[in-house]
Amino acid sequence: MTRLAPQVIVVDPVACDGHGVCAELLPEMISLDPWGYPIISGDPVPPGLLREAERAVASCPRLALHLLPAPEVPPVKPARRQVAMPPPRTRSRS
Ligand code: SF4
Repeated sequence: MTRLAPQVIVVDPVACDGHGVCAELLPEMISLDPWGYPIISGDPVPPGLLREAERAVASCPRLALHLLPAPEVPPVKPARRQVAMPPPRTRSRS
């Protein structure tokens, strides 16, 4: 019996539209944030869930979900949001 290399699920946050199909198909490893975007367990996919993981990847309408060999996964940096700062208030002297 051939032992498969560990794989992890990763999401392309630019391509993902937050449809949530992946979380329905693989709730053991994918949950949704309050806006419907996936929160993915960084753990390797257990062999017993590999078929469901492949189905979730194939069902993503935006092709945003991927199964990659665990060692090839780049470290994930938390996304930073750019927030525009309002111009400084000026005090009027009266
Ligand atoms: S199914 Fe695809 S597009 Fe929808 S939330 Fe999951 S990764 Fe994003």
